[in-house]
Amino acid sequence: MSSPKEHYRVVVIGGGIVGASVLYHLTLRGWTDVLLIERAELTAGSTWHAAAGFHALNDDPNIAALQAYTIKLYHEIEKESGQSVGMHMTGGYSLATTPARWEWLQAEWALHQTLGIDARLVTPEAIVADCPIIDPTGILGGLFDPNEGHVDPHGTTHAYAGAARKRGAHIVLRNRVLALTTLPDGGWRVDTEQGPIKTEHVINAAGLWARRVGRMAGIDLPLTPMQHHYLITGDVASLAARPREMPAVTDLEGFTYLRQERDGVLLGVYERNPRHWKTEGADWDYGMELIPEDIDRISPELSVGLARFPELLEAGIRKWVNGAFTFTPDGNPLVGPIAGHRNFWAACGCMAGFSQGGAIGLVLANWIVDGDPGSEVFGIDVARFGTFAGADQYLRDTTAQFYSRRFVIAYPNEELPAGRPLKVTPAYDAQRAVGARFGVVWGMETPQYFAIDQPDFLEQPSLRRSNAHDIVAAEVLATRTAAGLLDTNVYARYEVAGAGAEAWLDRLLASRLPPEGRMRLAPMLAPSGKLMGDLTVTRLAPERFWLTGSYYLQEFHQRWFRELLPRSGVTIENLSESWLGFSLSGPRSREILAQLTREDVTDAALPFLGCRLMDVGLTRAVVARLSLTGELGYEITVPALQQRTLWESLLKHGLPFGMRPIGMRAQDSLRLEKGYGVWSLEYAQSCTPVMSGLDRFIAYEKGNFIGRAAALKAREQGAEQQLVLLAIDALDADATGFEPVWVGERRVGFVTSGAYGHFVKQSLALAYVDRNVVESPTPLEVHVVGRRRPTRILVEPPYDPRGLRLRG
Ligand SMILES: Cc1cc2nc3c(=O)[nH]c(=O)nc-3n(C[C@H](O)[C@H](O)[C@H](O)COP(=O)(O)OP(=O)(O)OC[C@H]3O[C@@H](n4cnc5c(N)ncnc54)[C@H](O)[C@@H]3O)c2cc1C
Repeated sequence: MSSPKEHYRVVVIGGGIVGASVLYHLTLRGWTDVLLIERAELTAGSTWHAAAGFHALNDDPNIAALQAYTIKLYHEIEKESGQSVGMHMTGGYSLATTPARWEWLQAEWALHQTLGIDARLVTPEAIVADCPIIDPTGILGGLFDPNEGHVDPHGTTHAYAGAARKRGAHIVLRNRVLALTTLPDGGWRVDTEQGPIKTEHVINAAGLWARRVGRMAGIDLPLTPMQHHYLITGDVASLAARPREMPAVTDLEGFTYLRQERDGVLLGVYERNPRHWKTEGADWDYGMELIPEDIDRISPELSVGLARFPELLEAGIRKWVNGAFTFTPDGNPLVGPIAGHRNFWAACGCMAGFSQGGAIGLVLANWIVDGDPGSEVFGIDVARFGTFAGADQYLRDTTAQFYSRRFVIAYPNEELPAGRPLKVTPAYDAQRAVGARFGVVWGMETPQYFAIDQPDFLEQPSLRRSNAHDIVAAEVLATRTAAGLLDTNVYARYEVAGAGAEAWLDRLLASRLPPEGRMRLAPMLAPSGKLMGDLTVTRLAPERFWLTGSYYLQEFHQRWFRELLPRSGVTIENLSESWLGFSLSGPRSREILAQLTREDVTDAALPFLGCRLMDVGLTRAVVARLSLTGELGYEITVPALQQRTLWESLLKHGLPFGMRPIGMRAQDSLRLEKGYGVWSLEYAQSCTPVMSGLDRFIAYEKGNFIGRAAALKAREQGAEQQLVLLAIDALDADATGFEPVWVGERRVGFVTSGAYGHFVKQSLALAYVDRNVVESPTPLEVHVVGRRRPTRILVEPPYDPRGLRLRG
């Protein structure tokens, strides 16, 4: 541990499991001029007192793959460093004690297969045979995952650090970072207790202090520490007698997890009445101390745990641990570059450092060295939150919700209440008045469906079709036969203008740019040739364009735009919250629009993919002829303060034509009937244009654009998997995403999204499947809520395959 130099290529702040892994992975990529600065000792934050359990399973399969990487890495770093990680690969059982949970576990088991995780469903008898301290009362079954276990947190952190040091990294202990300042050359000055250091890149891996360290750079990160208890018992007689360690057990309905610790056990609790701790981040002088235990608060869960494992009462409690670790609103870590803060990287907000620490290091090192994380990582990308998520109360409410629901079933149709309503559009109250039920996208209230004339309607969370099924059916039917009115507040809009706008967009986007008054679907690629976005580009004037994409991707998009923006000649303005509107679509939409404008809206005057500024009722609107429902349609966008007026006039003039306000559930059904994909589900950073089918919108011949060479190469090689539309013989449930697709016993793909096609009366799904299956179609099966259902590939969409209605 030599004294630090004055300059490093990278400074990592924080020597917990995450910082140590980041340091190691940078050296693995050949970056050895790297320094880790630790305030106290390695592990001195959350890490030292973690229960240090790990598992590969995560609701987001991309994160699950990263967790599997972390687990595999433990043997490597142990070998390389010569430091034991204290590996106990015991496997683990998740218990089902209600019919709903048992059904959910069966569905989870199917998802495990998509991930290639070799889990199995087991009987209560098998669980008790393997875990003799369990009282089997009420257990209906369980899921055994062989990739669960635990490590020694101290040994594991030191193994990363030791291996990094062997590869040339420096580590300085007992040296707090005091301040961070940007330098004119784009680098950073890091002021520390032992003096200043200059560096190109700063990585915030400060764990419990990460919010404070973020603020040193003017960044408000959405993470906050929360308390967490576990206890360690004295020896448990039936364990002491066993020849091998007992597998871990998670009693999901009991809100407890348990694993063997020597001849006793460690029992941890995710209580439903959680507590934050030092919301701003730990005090600077916080040592390796425990928080006093709060047994009364956790006693409801604890008593369930002690009833499930009665022998523990005899063993007695040897030690209580109440410690803190950080949570984000969705429980996933914050990783990656921070938009607008050059060379500042997040590696924090990690609540499962022993499942995810290795992967965070891998992803971040790839990102810094290659400019690309190397896989689909949006689920952990710091850009998935906007500045709104840093507000204290929002953070407290959403993190408490996540913590208290850690083991609660997440239903696909369930909308959770915390931190809401935060962003509402001017039409919100008017939409509520006609029965809107809202979901939330990036803090924005977005209608899911309209329970018209049913003020008391309450949707029941379910893995199966819910009681909102018929409402959505009516919205789909109205859209196909008359018109539907959908809020487009789920879109992000950017205006790109200036003398250099055309040239810049031509390089940014893989499609041709449209002429004035026209729009185009415009894939955006990374240099790797993989997708960066599925935008729509509209030319409003020779040097004025609109780009439209998903609302929740604003930070992600803008981070990319900023990286590429020239110093002059092009401006970008984010209009996502200053312009709002509606999509009016359906066979009668032209007649409805014609009521509200004196402009000519015939096909000749406003053709498919045409766009014009025109009066619509009282408003002056940008009207674009396009829809995502597959019907004749118009996206009508106005300054935000006029959105309510537009809503009122569209409703008034549309209702006599049979129009209905519709929500995102109907939109999903309508888009699947047309086989349209959307970002994050069908299209993602891990996809090439050729596998996703988006290459048909790419103008390879137009000349150079970002990602062209790599995308061309991928096209020549052909895709191993392709996106296809599936018809599933489902009964009362539809696929939701990530269910495996089978040919006999061979897994040939996975579902990306699914819904019931209400108009075509068919359960539908989009899926990536192996190319050979597409080329020689054969009967398939798809898991739907844990049961295999007969499935076939549709060679064309079941609704209007020639697109006549869209162009009508
Ligand atoms: C009771 C408990 C049980 C847990 N159980 C599990 C489990 O079973 N499985 C699991 O995966 N996870 C578990 N965790 C969570 C796990 O501990 C965290 O996910 C992990 O430790 C986070 O690591 P980190 O490196 O991000 O942060 P930390 O461990 O907090 O490390 C941050 C480091 O940064 C240093 N630092 C901060 N500011 C500065 C500065 N200004 N200058 C220099 N250095 C600075 C700190 O001193 C600290 O060492 C548990 C945590 C607790 C408390």
